[in-house]
Amino acid sequence: MTTQIVLASSNAGKLGEIRDILAELPIELCSVAEFPGLVFPQEGDDYEENAIAKARAASKFTHRYALADDSGLEVSGLGGAPGPLSARFGGPDLDDDGRVRALLSAMEPLTGEQRRARFVCVAALTSPDGDIVTAFGECTGRILETARGRSGFGYDPIFEVEGKGIAMAELSSEEKNRISHRAVAFMALSDAIRVTLGLNQA
Ligand code: IMP
Repeated sequence: MTTQIVLASSNAGKLGEIRDILAELPIELCSVAEFPGLVFPQEGDDYEENAIAKARAASKFTHRYALADDSGLEVSGLGGAPGPLSARFGGPDLDDDGRVRALLSAMEPLTGEQRRARFVCVAALTSPDGDIVTAFGECTGRILETARGRSGFGYDPIFEVEGKGIAMAELSSEEKNRISHRAVAFMALSDAIRVTLGLNQA
């Protein structure tokens, strides 16, 4: 029998990725679209607090276990910005393409080491009783001068993955879901998910 867990995110890109990353677990990852009325708290500047707050809101509203992540892109030459505020870089009304253009423009004066960057992710599991487990993941690389590739979402077209020499958006979804910050965090959380939910080994 599969156990239902709610994914506390309205980002369709994340839902697909997390379903793939956790495909070995006997769980059904439900979208928040199945729970009209569920509202997420305003996000702050701490990945772990944000991830916990989103998962908690979903567990409380649905009376189910919930998973959430909070992620961001940190650029060395921008002092770690945009970081936890990555979703709003350049202003609240931009879409992914607009944010990519805004970041490329902020990066124009930056060269060499200043273009080093990492994607960061904190994944959180919460129970209906209020238990919390979290895990951290990162993926290092650099910001490209121009966008490349069409897969993934967000800043993937301008993030060159360390050791690969190509943009995150040029990786297959299978490869991204093996090496990304989100993959590292959710794989680290998967044992806790098994134990907490009493799941059998796949
Ligand atoms: P949040 O975790 O939903 O707050 O969003 C984080 C921000 O970072 C969003 O703007 C995403 O587009 C971006 N982001 C998070 N993960 C990724 C990724 O895997 N690839 C590209 N951009 C990402």
